[in-house]
Amino acid sequence: MAKKKQTLEDKLSVKNETAWIGITKAQEKKIHDFSEDYKAFLSKVKTEREAVEFIVAAAKKKGFKPLASYKKLKAGDKVIFTNMGKLAALAVIGKDPIEKGMKVVASHIDSPRIDLKQKPLYEDTDSELALFKTHYYGGIKKYQWVNIPLAIHGVIVKADGKILNVIIGEDPQDPVFIIGDLLPHLSHKAQADRKMPEVIKGEELRIIIGNRPSSDKDAKNKLKLNILEILNKKYGIIEEDLISAELQVVPATGARDVGLDRSMVGGYGQDDRVCAYTSLRAIMEVDKPKKTALALYFDKEEVGSIGATGAQGGFFEMAVGEMLEKAVPNYRYSILKRAMANSRALSADVDAGVNPMFKSVHELGNAAKLGHGIGICKFGGARGKGGSNDANAEFLGELRMLFNKTKVPWQYTELGKVDEGGGGTVARFLSEHNLEVIDCGPPLVSMHSPFEIASKVDIYSSYRAFMEFQKAD
Ligand code: MN
Ligand code: MN
Repeated sequence: MAKKKQTLEDKLSVKNETAWIGITKAQEKKIHDFSEDYKAFLSKVKTEREAVEFIVAAAKKKGFKPLASYKKLKAGDKVIFTNMGKLAALAVIGKDPIEKGMKVVASHIDSPRIDLKQKPLYEDTDSELALFKTHYYGGIKKYQWVNIPLAIHGVIVKADGKILNVIIGEDPQDPVFIIGDLLPHLSHKAQADRKMPEVIKGEELRIIIGNRPSSDKDAKNKLKLNILEILNKKYGIIEEDLISAELQVVPATGARDVGLDRSMVGGYGQDDRVCAYTSLRAIMEVDKPKKTALALYFDKEEVGSIGATGAQGGFFEMAVGEMLEKAVPNYRYSILKRAMANSRALSADVDAGVNPMFKSVHELGNAAKLGHGIGICKFGGARGKGGSNDANAEFLGELRMLFNKTKVPWQYTELGKVDEGGGGTVARFLSEHNLEVIDCGPPLVSMHSPFEIASKVDIYSSYRAFMEFQKAD
């Protein structure tokens, strides 16, 4: 096809076109192959713990080693950090001293979900059902989680301290679980007038797990006892073991191609495991960079980045400090502070793609569209940028230059109209270290739902963006 002549308007205006235009056969193949790998990851990895395991295993295959196995660090060394099994970091030591700053890509590996309560099990004899009580995690629209097959992932710490890993509902032979909605025939009074956040209430998010009584004639709670008997037989646990457990309820379904043109990936947990996966693949391609490359995979972003494994937990600084101790002969705290302050970071997190049914929440001139490449977002927050990291124009300029030079499809995005709502990422917590940071990631449609949608070309653009950022000087 002949190239269209560039008009004066094209030359002077911001580009606003889909990244699918002009894609070569070779690029098409790369995007396809990458998406296949990504879908396999997304179908398998559904919790922060599983993400850490995946990251560590993949990194080890590429020559990354735990910090403890290095006496001294030199350019090209590849380091793995983990914290409490829920936070991971990977580093590739650069040719410049670390003190001159790092190239950081920080994503989060927790996703909105439904956690079991610590005393979850009860029976309801009016319905003859055994159920688990839950407490949801992160910002979900509760009504979306009813009537879909659910799986349980997590750990149970037994009375003797032994840790049991549990995954039920992923193997095709496994049972799945469900939260039952009310039938439409009878919902007129009980549910029809409820407002959206209460269509299903928090305490109504109860997981159906059984319908058969125990054969023990003396038991008072036969439905509950039957479940306890099954758990005891299969895992050797008693009810108190569930108190020291973290059991997460997630969609039992895997990732799939979406669309007749197969241009999109649908699946659970793309916020923000799409950035975790793409930044993992990116840093695995980085060899002896000028600046030390660091990929951070945080937990707890969906509940405010609190806790030891969240971005506010101090792990970032500790990891860099420990690296410096092995890389610098006369390590001092001021060197650590300088290393942080000289760094540049991408807060790699998803943006809100325009949903054709709800366009009114966006100011369309500054909104992200599926297929237009990775989104760059200068600020988030709410009520006048409140609580957001407002990135510096200089850093935005640097990225713009890099992505244009390396032909990474990118677009500018904001979260929504000025007074529409808002949200934050780990960017503001990274910025507390006095470094340059900006939000950057692919747009999603149906964010925070059990089945989020991303465009394959944006996923691939994100991988390339993170890689080019960490490879560049
Ligand atoms: Mn996110
Ligand atoms: Mn989120």
